[in-house]
Order: sequence, then C-alpha cells, then structure tokens
Amino acid sequence: MLSVTSGNAQSIVLASAPERPPMPIVVGNWKMNGLLDSLGEVERIARGVGGTRADVRLALPATLIALAALKGGELTIGAQDVHPEPCGPRTGGIAATMLRDAGARFTLVGHSERRTPQGSDDDSRVAVKLQAARAAGLEVILCVGETADDRRAGKEAAVVEKQIRRALCNVVLGNWLTIAYEPRWAIGSGTLPSLGKIAAMHRTIRSALAAMAGHDVPLLYGGSVSAANAREILSVDSIDGLLVGNASLTADRFVPIVEAAA
Ligand code: PEP
Repeated sequence: MLSVTSGNAQSIVLASAPERPPMPIVVGNWKMNGLLDSLGEVERIARGVGGTRADVRLALPATLIALAALKGGELTIGAQDVHPEPCGPRTGGIAATMLRDAGARFTLVGHSERRTPQGSDDDSRVAVKLQAARAAGLEVILCVGETADDRRAGKEAAVVEKQIRRALCNVVLGNWLTIAYEPRWAIGSGTLPSLGKIAAMHRTIRSALAAMAGHDVPLLYGGSVSAANAREILSVDSIDGLLVGNASLTADRFVPIVEAAA
C-alpha cells in the first residue's frame, strides 16, 4: 500500500493502481423520475443492451432500487445520492447501508444538482458522503464540474481540481471509484463543451490524480449526451464512458447511446 502526501498536506492512499476499464461504462441517471410502472422501461433497457460490450448502469430513484435490482438483468443498479451518516434521527434520509441492502451496487456522489443550496452538498459533505458510500460497500461515481461563471472567469481547472482534492482527501483509492466530468452548464441544457474542452479537463483531472496519487481511474463525460452526439463525444481519447441524464429515461433513447459506446 502506497501513501502519498501532496503540497497542501492532503493525502491519498492507494490499495492498488486501478486500470482503465476493459469496456466502456454507460450510466443512466433517472434523477427524480420513475414510478413502479417504469420498471417495464428498466426491463426494456436491460433487454436492449443485453450482449453489448458495455458496462451499463442505472442510477435510479431510491424507491425503485429494490425491484429494479431484481428485474434489471445484467444492468448494474445504483443510487443517485447517499446520506453522509450511517443511521439515526434524520427524517427522510437514506443511508448508504440501506441502499446497499436494497440492492444498489453503486451511487453517484456530488452530482451538480446536489451541489446547490437545495441539495446542500459542498466539497466537505461530498467527501463524507463518499466515505459513507465506500464504508457500506458501494462503488462511487464522483461527479465534478464547473459552473458557467467559473468557466467565464477561466477558473474551471482550479475548481475541478479542488473538488477532486477535497473529495479524495484521506481516501483509500481502488477500483470502486469512477469520476464523471459534468460541466454544470452542460447538464440539461442541450449545450455541449467542445471535444477539446472535454479532453483538456480530463487531462487536468488525470494530472491532479497523478500528482496526488500517481494513478488513474475511469473518467466519464456527462451533460446533454444523446444518441446524436454520443459517438462524437466518445471519440475523445481519454473518455472511458458516459453519464446520461434525460436521454436515459427510455430504452428508445438510451440503448442507441450504449450501442454507440460499445
Ligand atoms: C446528469 O444529470 O447527470 C446529466 C448528464 O443530465 P443530462 O444528460 O440530462 O444533461
């Protein structure tokens, strides 16, 4: 086990150096959408992507996880967020152990829709959530990304680097971690960064990881991905997969994205 301390005294410990994934990873994020009826759509997606050379995952509302884990075939079912604490008087909270118990295998952490006053995630809460998820045995997809104002001010690299440094402070890294670069201004807007901007941010992320820990994790891109643009986005060398919001809600729109990736 290797321990590395960076300039600002934050340390990351490596259990082993994770490798780039053997298959593209395509994650659907259903956000606050889906009723029990929608389990039919989960099954359609599972059938549609069956046999493709891709690691396909769905981050579902907590209410659907247990049944989807039973009906989702080879799909990996996960959550969209976790409470930072393990149990106790937190009305409405859902602990990582509860999600794991319901059948979730992974969770998103730090999604931009949680990094808002309403969601109340700041970098330190993201770090605690990540550790809570890990302690419960969930894999984590850590979401990072700058706002439009950050980019206008030329601060996007510094913002994302800080998000990573803070989230991964004193964490034992391993194959359980994936990072999704999702510029907040691209989410749900229909606007995509240029391929050059995605590649540049992925370089920033990889060199931040290298400076902290000397190793790599799978990197996804997310924000307004559709069947029309998936292939082009995936042509960026550094991309190991996609995080898809709106276009993951139906098999008709999601399966072609998975096929483009595979
Ligand atoms: C997301 O919410 O993670 C996302 C990428 O959303 P969309 O694809 O709808 O922009």
